[in-house]
Amino acid sequence: MLGAGPAALCIVAELVEHGLSVTALASHAPDKPWPNTYGIWAEELESLGLASLLGHRWVNTVSYFGNGDGQEGNSPIEHHFDYGLFDQFALQKSLLLRCEGVIWNVETAKDIRVLGSKSEVVCESGEIFHARLVIDASGHRSRFITRPDHGPVAQQAAYGVVGRFSSPPVEKEQFVLMDFRPDHLDSDQLKKPPTFLYAMDFGDGVFFVEETSLACAPPISLKTLRNRLHDRLTHRGVEINEIIHEEHCLFPMNLPLPHRNQPLLAFGGAASMVHPASGYMVGALLRRAPTLAKQLALDMDERPYLDSASLAKRGWEVLWTPELVQRHRLYQFGLRRLMSFDEARLRRFFETFFRLPKQDWAGFLANTLPLPRLLVVMLRLFYISPWKVKIGMVFGVGLNS
Ligand SMILES: Cc1cc2nc3c(=O)[nH]c(=O)nc-3n(C[C@H](O)[C@H](O)[C@H](O)COP(=O)(O)OP(=O)(O)OC[C@H]3O[C@@H](n4cnc5c(N)ncnc54)[C@H](O)[C@@H]3O)c2cc1C
Repeated sequence: MLGAGPAALCIVAELVEHGLSVTALASHAPDKPWPNTYGIWAEELESLGLASLLGHRWVNTVSYFGNGDGQEGNSPIEHHFDYGLFDQFALQKSLLLRCEGVIWNVETAKDIRVLGSKSEVVCESGEIFHARLVIDASGHRSRFITRPDHGPVAQQAAYGVVGRFSSPPVEKEQFVLMDFRPDHLDSDQLKKPPTFLYAMDFGDGVFFVEETSLACAPPISLKTLRNRLHDRLTHRGVEINEIIHEEHCLFPMNLPLPHRNQPLLAFGGAASMVHPASGYMVGALLRRAPTLAKQLALDMDERPYLDSASLAKRGWEVLWTPELVQRHRLYQFGLRRLMSFDEARLRRFFETFFRLPKQDWAGFLANTLPLPRLLVVMLRLFYISPWKVKIGMVFGVGLNS
């Protein structure tokens, strides 16, 4: 196993529970705190029986898709759906506790070779490890997983501040998924790719505000995002009094799916498991790890003759079933369309999207809708969309068309 991020820990915990012996290599110790904060809709975790892993939970969850002008342009859409942030430490610890017996090595892999029935991982230190199957959970920058080249990859980028402010940037006890109000932008900025505010009240006078670009190729620079955040806050009469933590976020949204005939397997960012329309992944890791681990345990136990390439092939078939591949394609198509929308069209799109029944938009965002239902939801979204959005969905008109 390569990695000690959320993906590695999720799959290792399941492999161990299925009785497999795992050796893990990661560039840092497995209990080193993860650098990112991970958000998730609370119901997704409740369905896995893991809601106790949330460090923060918000009942008051809203978005703004108005133009920011007048009463109507400032009215929020209420989601009536709880959102949470993982308690990073609790999530990491609970997964590590399940990884009993795993040998963790602080090593950076530099080469992976398949030698018939076994694979060999060569580390930068010169150390060499052997395994029946290598699973690469080294994140989206993996240098070992191959994938087709479909041109520039859209990146989600964000600049955020956890801090104290001259006045509350969002309401007390509120979570703002997307504030797209553009009234702080000048006419030139309005023609550029849109960004939104993701923000929340942490309590005790501390808030998190993050200017986010959903997806853009090339990505929006952190400098632009920082300037936009400051402009947005200033426009609302809010100043940053104290910066407790700055978050810089950049990760690929529509990384092509890996080649599924390669002799090593991947999980997490390396396996392109980030949801191409939302950027979320942790829920998917927790949901998809058990099935994959079960299949690998079965194959390793009952089919000792399977070599690395055959095991990897069977793993890829379980990880990326034809249904999941089709769903992924639909999401990628949707994202391409959204990336072509100017800010007014994008606001209308999201305003319509959140008028879908809650279970439909939530299932869309979590990637838990079966393919036929996903198709129905997408058709329904098209049907209820205003003409301007419909035209954008069909022809991809706007910024990058
Ligand atoms: C700032 C940010 C915020 C995000 N927020 C959310 C969110 O709110 N909700 C959500 O669901 N998703 C979120 N994501 C998306 C996604 O869940 C994360 O990117 C997640 O960290 C990916 O997990 P991973 O384990 O695949 O990779 P990573 O977390 O990147 O972990 C990779 C691991 O591999 C190790 N490694 C790398 N190279 C090697 C090597 N050669 N040899 C050995 N070890 C190696 C690293 O040390 C690390 O342990 C966010 C991403 C970012 C960047």
